[in-house]
Amino acid sequence: MSRQHMGLRIFYFSIVTVVGVVIQLLVSSTGSVAASLISASVVSMIVQGLWRLSDPDSQSFTHQLVPAGGALAGIVIATLVRFLQYGIHPLNWAAIPVALFTSAAAIWLRPKAHSEVCFQHRVRLTTVFECPRCRQKFCGKSDCWNSRGVRCQRCQQNEVPVFDLRNDHWWTKRFGKRVTSGSCMKCLSTAANTQVHECGQCHWQMCRRCWDLDNGQCRKCGWMPEGLPEPLRVLIAPTRAVPRRSSRTVVAGQGRQQR
Ligand SMILES: [Zn+2]
Ligand SMILES: [Zn+2]
Ligand SMILES: [Zn+2]
Ligand SMILES: [Zn+2]
Repeated sequence: MSRQHMGLRIFYFSIVTVVGVVIQLLVSSTGSVAASLISASVVSMIVQGLWRLSDPDSQSFTHQLVPAGGALAGIVIATLVRFLQYGIHPLNWAAIPVALFTSAAAIWLRPKAHSEVCFQHRVRLTTVFECPRCRQKFCGKSDCWNSRGVRCQRCQQNEVPVFDLRNDHWWTKRFGKRVTSGSCMKCLSTAANTQVHECGQCHWQMCRRCWDLDNGQCRKCGWMPEGLPEPLRVLIAPTRAVPRRSSRTVVAGQGRQQR
């Protein structure tokens, strides 16, 4: 952590403490025990919430202790001051465990909401790439994510399919009936031996395996059938928005740069 971050945390801690003291003193001056307990809890919660907004990247437990500690310090000081000045109802001391408990609960509940990490690098994800093949999430670095192939490097290496190659109904519905003549224009297997389907827009034809390897997108005209799996559609969508002619060159150009 940089010095700047450290300074910021100390600053925030002090602000929180001061604000906590002021609020707690104001509330306890009403003399109501319930009000001071509620305010101890509310102050702890608000402080924790603001901390998250100001520093959404802080995932570590120690960083969470900054707002919790600040709020707690504020409440302890306020209760002490009040006690020394006027004497307080003994139940007012309960504000301290209430603050502790609220902060602990807030910290404990937090990680579940943002626990997405890269399947390979174990770093917290800011941009999520969900692999359409294994459905794991990745950070998008070139050694975990193949952006050209729209899949993770493991699925690339193991040639994990994204479509069910044997589900005839699925293929017919999206690509139309299998072609009986000619051959796959990519791997050259004949239509007699493998199931070959034609592009819905041009006459490019490929076997199911090659369509799968190309994410169901025609390499000649960029066409894709309707009803492809959601993660695939989401990741490929931007290139489809580009006018058809130029889209292919854009995709190819990007791919080369990212290699
Ligand atoms: Zn994968
Ligand atoms: Zn990664
Ligand atoms: Zn093929
Ligand atoms: Zn096509």
